[in-house]
Amino acid sequence: MPQEIEVAAATTAAPEVLFRHLAVPEAWGAWGKFPTRARQVRKGDTTTYGVGCVKQIWPAKEQTVAYEPYSRFSYIALSGLPVRRYRSDVHLDPQEDGTGTYLRWRATFEPLVPGTGPLLGFFFRLMLKSFVRWLPDHAEGCPATCPARDAATCNGRKRGTGREHPAVPSARTRPRTAPNRTRGRKPPTTPRRRTGRSPAASPRRPDRTSGTW
Ligand SMILES: [Zn+2]
Repeated sequence: MPQEIEVAAATTAAPEVLFRHLAVPEAWGAWGKFPTRARQVRKGDTTTYGVGCVKQIWPAKEQTVAYEPYSRFSYIALSGLPVRRYRSDVHLDPQEDGTGTYLRWRATFEPLVPGTGPLLGFFFRLMLKSFVRWLPDHAEGCPATCPARDAATCNGRKRGTGREHPAVPSARTRPRTAPNRTRGRKPPTTPRRRTGRSPAASPRRPDRTSGTW
């Protein structure tokens, strides 16, 4: 007899953010408290993270079977779980007031050994309850280094403003100020040694003794 479990949670994280954390195999290692890293072992049939994608996540190997940005994500277990026909369907519904997501995680499976259904059901319910707690906890404060950000365009379209993921300002992208030499040349008629003490001219001179180079 197939067993069925469903758990749910509300989160302030946007559906797009949650979806990316489901779609990118390595992201499972970022939000899930698994003993080993999660990794992709097969790309999707037509896109990197789409249907057909296989992830290795201790102790199971799971394949994406439904991929509908940003509302539904489903996968099946290919191996590693003590059950037959394990399938999970994750539904991401925007909250009515637009402040987050209602997350539903459903799993179905068949016990390998007759009579073990209730025990396995208890185990999988605990697991899914952990998932719907861990995923929002992480997604609501997802760090800039998270692998989920590799999937900025899960659906092939450019994502909007990125407001769902807090933007991290990068000082490195700021252009350096123009070299002093270029500017110093502008007043062509000023001989360097003429007065020397002009207060307007002095602040631009680079301080070569400051030691930052
Ligand atoms: Zn993340």
